[in-house]
Amino acid sequence: MSLTGVLLVAEQRNGEPRRMALELATRARQLADEGCGPVSAVVIGPGASAAAEKLGEYGVERAFVSEDKRCGSFPVVAEAAVVERAVQAVAPLIVLIAASNAGRDVAARLSARLGLGVIAAATDVRVAEGQPVVTCPVFGGSIVEEKGFVDGRGVVLMRPNAVSAEASPASIQTAIEFLDVVIETGHAAEIVETAAESSSSLPVEESSVVVAGGRGLGTAEGFELLRELARELDGAVGSTRPAVDAGWIDYATQIGLTGKIVKPKLYIALGVSGAVQHRIGMQTSEVIVAVNRNPDASIFQYSDFGVVGDLFEIVPRLIESIRKRKQG
Ligand SMILES: Cc1cc2nc3c(=O)[nH]c(=O)nc-3n(C[C@H](O)[C@H](O)[C@H](O)COP(=O)(O)OP(=O)(O)OC[C@H]3O[C@@H](n4cnc5c(N)ncnc54)[C@H](O)[C@@H]3O)c2cc1C
Repeated sequence: MSLTGVLLVAEQRNGEPRRMALELATRARQLADEGCGPVSAVVIGPGASAAAEKLGEYGVERAFVSEDKRCGSFPVVAEAAVVERAVQAVAPLIVLIAASNAGRDVAARLSARLGLGVIAAATDVRVAEGQPVVTCPVFGGSIVEEKGFVDGRGVVLMRPNAVSAEASPASIQTAIEFLDVVIETGHAAEIVETAAESSSSLPVEESSVVVAGGRGLGTAEGFELLRELARELDGAVGSTRPAVDAGWIDYATQIGLTGKIVKPKLYIALGVSGAVQHRIGMQTSEVIVAVNRNPDASIFQYSDFGVVGDLFEIVPRLIESIRKRKQG
C-alpha cells in the first residue's frame, strides 16, 4: 500500500472537537491542497461521532470513530489501540497529534507498537520530495530546525496554537467508520474519578482573551484582582513561571517555554517582565497589552499598548471602566 495523506488524532470533549483538533485538521487540509493526499481523522471516546461530523467543515474526508467507554477509563492504552488500528487502515505519510498531555502519551505508545518515529514540539510540517519536513524551534526559538524521518514517514507532535484553525471554504461530509478494537487493559492504570475544575472559563490555550499575571502580583491574593478582570472580559487566567513556583496559581495556567503556548485575540500582561522564556508562549497573540511599573521592562518592546504604572492602581480602574461601559 502506498504511504499517502495525513491521519490526525482529533481530541474532543462532549461531542465538540477541541481547538487543537481543528488546528491539526486545518494544516492537514492545506497539505492535501498541496498534493499530500487525503485527510482522515481518529476521534475517540463518548461523543466521538458527533465531533467527527463537525470535522467535515475543516476538510476531513474520513473519520475513524470509537465510542468505547474504556477510552475514558484507560485513556492511553485504549486510545493508542484505536489509533494504531486507524494507522494500519490508511497507512498515512504523516500522523498528526497535538502535543497535549494525552497526545504525547498516545504518540509514545504508537511509536513503540508500530516502530514509527516521533518528532515532538513541532510548529509546522510540510512535504518535500514525498517526505515530511518538520519545523521545530529549539533554544527558546533562537534556532529553528527542520527534521525528517529515517523511514520517510512518522508521527508529528504539533504544539497547540502553532497553526490558526480555519474552516474549509468548501465544507464536506465526513465519511464515518466505527472501529471495533480489541483493547488489552490488563496492566493499565485506570481513571477511577475525574474532578472538573471549578473555573467556568476555557483552558488558557483555548481562550480568545488571556489575562496573565507575573511576580509583580506579589501574592496568591494578588491573583484575585486578575481573576476579576478576566471574568469581566470573559477570559482565562494565565501566569509566569515564578508565580507558579511560588504556589500562587496552578501550573496549568503557566505560559511559555515550559508551559502553554497561547494565541488569543487579546493578551494582557500584568506585572510580567517579558523574559524570553515567557515571550515564546504568547508572542503570536493578536493584541498585547502590558501594565508594568518599570518603563524599561522588555515586555513593552513587543506590546501593542503599554501602561507604565502600578497594576494595583490601574487594574481596579480598568475593571470599573469596563463595568461602566457594559452598563451603557
Ligand atoms: C529553562 C527555563 C524555562 C522557563 N520557562 C518559563 C515559562 O515557561 N514561562 C515563564 O513565564 N517563565 C519561564 N522561565 C522563567 C523566566 O526566565 C523568567 O524568570 C520569568 O518569565 C519571569 O517572570 P515574571 O515576569 O513574572 O517575573 P519578573 O521577571 O520578576 O518580573 C516581574 C515584573 O513585575 C513588575 N512589577 C512588580 N510590581 C509591579 C506592580 N505593582 N505593578 C506593575 N508592575 C509590577 C516588575 O517591574 C517586573 O518587570 C523559564 C526559565 C528557564 C531557565
